[in-house]
Amino acid sequence: MKIKEKCGVFGIYAFDQKWNVSRFVYYGLIASQNRGQETCGIATYNGNEIKCIKGRGMVEEFFTAEKLEKTPGWIGIGNVCPFSPESTNNIQPVSDNKTQLVFSYNGKILNFKEISPNSNTGPDEDPNVAAKLLSQELEKSDPLQATETVMEKFKGAYSFVAITKNGEMIVARDPMGIKPLCIGSFGFDHGAVASESATLDIIGADYKAPIKPGEIYVFTPYSIERKQAFKPQPKYCAFEYVYFARPDSIINDKSVYEARMKIGEHLAKEFPVEADAVIGVPETAIPFAMAYSNYTGTPIEMGFVRTGRAVRTAIKPTQFERLVGVQLKLNPIRSAIRGKKVVLIDDSVVRGTTTRNIVNLMRNRIGAKEVHVRIGSPRLISPCPFGVEVPEKDELIAANLTPEEVSKVVGADTFAWLSLKGVIDSIGFPKEKLCLGCFTGKYPIEE
Ligand code: SF4
Repeated sequence: MKIKEKCGVFGIYAFDQKWNVSRFVYYGLIASQNRGQETCGIATYNGNEIKCIKGRGMVEEFFTAEKLEKTPGWIGIGNVCPFSPESTNNIQPVSDNKTQLVFSYNGKILNFKEISPNSNTGPDEDPNVAAKLLSQELEKSDPLQATETVMEKFKGAYSFVAITKNGEMIVARDPMGIKPLCIGSFGFDHGAVASESATLDIIGADYKAPIKPGEIYVFTPYSIERKQAFKPQPKYCAFEYVYFARPDSIINDKSVYEARMKIGEHLAKEFPVEADAVIGVPETAIPFAMAYSNYTGTPIEMGFVRTGRAVRTAIKPTQFERLVGVQLKLNPIRSAIRGKKVVLIDDSVVRGTTTRNIVNLMRNRIGAKEVHVRIGSPRLISPCPFGVEVPEKDELIAANLTPEEVSKVVGADTFAWLSLKGVIDSIGFPKEKLCLGCFTGKYPIEE
């Protein structure tokens, strides 16, 4: 199993009201699909009303030309999410009908039940609670003040973008900045925000800067107001650099690609092994493998072909569908592996099942001579309270077994995780500025 990040957000504000931004949002969401493939949604404001279309599936599957024509407007926000809530109401962007606010967020507000205006708030309703509270505050004060007031109440990790019925776009990031968010522009005509800078590149916007932890932006037809409402206390999610973010993104002003290359170098320094080939499990581990190969001089090989998207089928999966699904996701290139001593590099190990299947495939079906597994993240020992789906501790192989025991379980000749120091040095922030909770069990705030 793979770990799932919680959502990608996007927003665009055209200062010229003749613009129709819905296609920008559409392509922005396609570019953010690495952050969620289960639900997607677009909301726009056209000067009179807010329109929102959302549903289940990938962006290109769900949105047709007809649906996009139903969301015209010069302000637009969107969301992709890796979880599919039971109720369509909880698919993002969520709206508050009373004041017509639409809200797209990435994160988890831990105290959402405590601060909810309703007593029977369901488990997926954190975005609705946030939207409702923000909309209530907007009735009392201006967008900047209203946002500051709700942020005082929120405890957790969040980045959000919202459109109000008055044609304002509100953007905010929590004071710890756990979830990424950045801002860009198209000259003077548009402002754009996205979870990742690569999204801005793809729609042709110029990346400007990360939104600072604790910072609020309010876009209006005449101005962009900005306020550092809370003192930044950065605790950036380390897993963004290891796994969630696209390698072509800059997160918190650090290149994800450079961090991944350094991770590969650290793995090579910490755990060298004599081998004939280095193979990275696509896509995330490819830079790790390249850097490992550069440092050790062991040739890099393309060991697998990955079908780049989630494999979906309307057919109820039988054992056959499951097998085909695995091969579609990751099909080996036999001549790169057969008869060789291989260093296999992956980004993370959760339960160990996927690693065991890959090692078994390489050794027993294809005929690798040796398989040495290197993992580009430290031992994953603890769940994430901030909306990332990591299984409970008793299901995490790293929380329960030593590297030697894991090596036996997955059938590898040797097995190693990157050290904590290795990941911190590779990202390039001091330890105090990172959330490393799922590797250490210590979180920046208590649940
Ligand atoms: S606990 Fe792990 S996944 Fe969650 S925010 Fe912290 S580093 Fe990221």
